[in-house]
Amino acid sequence: MKCPNCNVELSVKEIEDVNVHLCSACSGIFLHEGELKKITHPTAGDIEYSSLANIDKNRVSELLCPICETEKMIDVNFGSYSDIIMNYCRKCSGIWLDKGDLKKINAEIDKLNNDVEPWEHSFRVFLAKLPF
Ligand SMILES: [Zn+2]
Ligand SMILES: [Zn+2]
Repeated sequence: MKCPNCNVELSVKEIEDVNVHLCSACSGIFLHEGELKKITHPTAGDIEYSSLANIDKNRVSELLCPICETEKMIDVNFGSYSDIIMNYCRKCSGIWLDKGDLKKINAEIDKLNNDVEPWEHSFRVFLAKLPF
């Protein structure tokens, strides 16, 4: 399997007991279906589902899926509202994360987990999206 960014052969790395495919050149990570929630901090919701429930198939990424090779991935926002962009393959349900994305996702999960009132979080997201 080769890196969709640099075409370097991906190496296997263990994160949280899951063998993920990592690029030694750009530090991107390829995850098979279901692996994202295994390597990120635990949370009550299904982060893969909430990120992928409303994908916009027109947001085609420049990256080709390392497994499907000819299939262009789609840009999706983590949790569907955050500004963390993941690349998702509709064919094999794999996810490509760029360097640092995993860290940002874990920080976002920590933030969600610390929110006592979930509605308050949604409200703040709503306010953040207002144009003023
Ligand atoms: Zn790479
Ligand atoms: Zn694929």
